[in-house]
Amino acid sequence: MQKINKNIHRFDIYVVLQKFFVFSFIVFLVLFQTQSESFASGRYYKTSSEIKNFQRSIIDYRKYIGKRFKKKIRKKTKYIIIHTSELGKDSTLKVVLKGKKITNGYRTPGGHAHYVIARNGKTYRTLDKKYRADHAGLSMWQGQENISDISIGIELVGYHNYPLTNQQYKSVSILLKILKKIYYLSDKDILTHSQIAYGKPNPWFKKNHRGRKRCAQNFDRKKAGLTYHWTYDPDVRSGRLLADPSLTSYFYTPAITSKLNHLPSNIITKKNSAWSIAGEAYNLSSTIYILPDGKKLPGNSIGSTIGWNFLPLYTKVILNKQKPEMKTVIKIIRDGATAWSHAGILYNDKHTFYILPSGNIVSGTQISDWDDLPLGTRLIIGYKHPVSITKKQTAFSIAGHEYNSENIVYYIPENKVVTGNQIKGFHHLPKGTKIFLPL
Ligand SMILES: [Zn+2]
Repeated sequence: MQKINKNIHRFDIYVVLQKFFVFSFIVFLVLFQTQSESFASGRYYKTSSEIKNFQRSIIDYRKYIGKRFKKKIRKKTKYIIIHTSELGKDSTLKVVLKGKKITNGYRTPGGHAHYVIARNGKTYRTLDKKYRADHAGLSMWQGQENISDISIGIELVGYHNYPLTNQQYKSVSILLKILKKIYYLSDKDILTHSQIAYGKPNPWFKKNHRGRKRCAQNFDRKKAGLTYHWTYDPDVRSGRLLADPSLTSYFYTPAITSKLNHLPSNIITKKNSAWSIAGEAYNLSSTIYILPDGKKLPGNSIGSTIGWNFLPLYTKVILNKQKPEMKTVIKIIRDGATAWSHAGILYNDKHTFYILPSGNIVSGTQISDWDDLPLGTRLIIGYKHPVSITKKQTAFSIAGHEYNSENIVYYIPENKVVTGNQIKGFHHLPKGTKIFLPL
């Protein structure tokens, strides 16, 4: 009897232990379940709020689209095309919305992109994504032409031979994430305009060819959150188009990322022709050639004067040159021309700078005695704090493409204030030269 009792007792313990294990296992499962769910939802909320914040931050400019632009629903969306505008922000928005002048005074009706992303990352919606934007022009990918009919266009404010900003990459990566999901696209469907544009025969090519556009040649796919990149051009491989050597070296040769650190230069060399710098814009009047002797010639006059094969080495090519402004950005205080009459309410702004006849530079916030501002003081309105030019920090590395434009202001010791277009020898700027960039 005792034995049996003992067995029963032992049996009880087993049952209790077993129940305990089952119970703790269930508790463990429940805990684990809730925890993994909360991890998942945490991640979900993070990305979704990032997306929501971005969507909320998009500035709606659709109402400013040109009146002549005819909205047409796009039937298919197979690609997203990335452009660089080769212009500043305001001009980009103007061209994208209201069109650009082409030959004979004709103006395109606008609607040239769905989104514009400024250099500070601010994103503008310029056309509802369901409509067709006229952004790709003569284009082909995998044998299919008229890519505007089947794609979304994103315009990044900036130049193809100057780096895009981290803020732009941040915005474009979120925008691409959203659009890929909506249209079931993958990374390989995201291409730059330069990759898909093609040109008709010209002095450099006997047949249809790539290289018509240089647009977004500097687009760093990794920074935009894309993993896939094309290792070949399907239309060149199939023989439909001739390859453009400079594009091939940018897009389809290994070590693409190291190439991005050596952006194409705007100076003509044996390897860098007017074509490889400007693409189809090579002979436009808005493309300016600055010869080594400082002489400037518009693209439409080169063919009849110098000839395309005789452009001197080290000629600089400036794209999209606007008509020079008659008024300079540098104002002078004279009798009857006060700080106020020049700058209005911005007279005491921190972005209005005064260069005194003594050579001292002060901002509007630093001046208290306005009546004693000496005559001959020069002022500029809407500029950032000046940066000193050094051997390591050249005018180009500070100001980029625009370094020699009429909007960039230089203070040159002793006491000279000039705009970039007035400087001839950028290599001989004296020590202490400062550069002012517009906001
Ligand atoms: Zn483009």
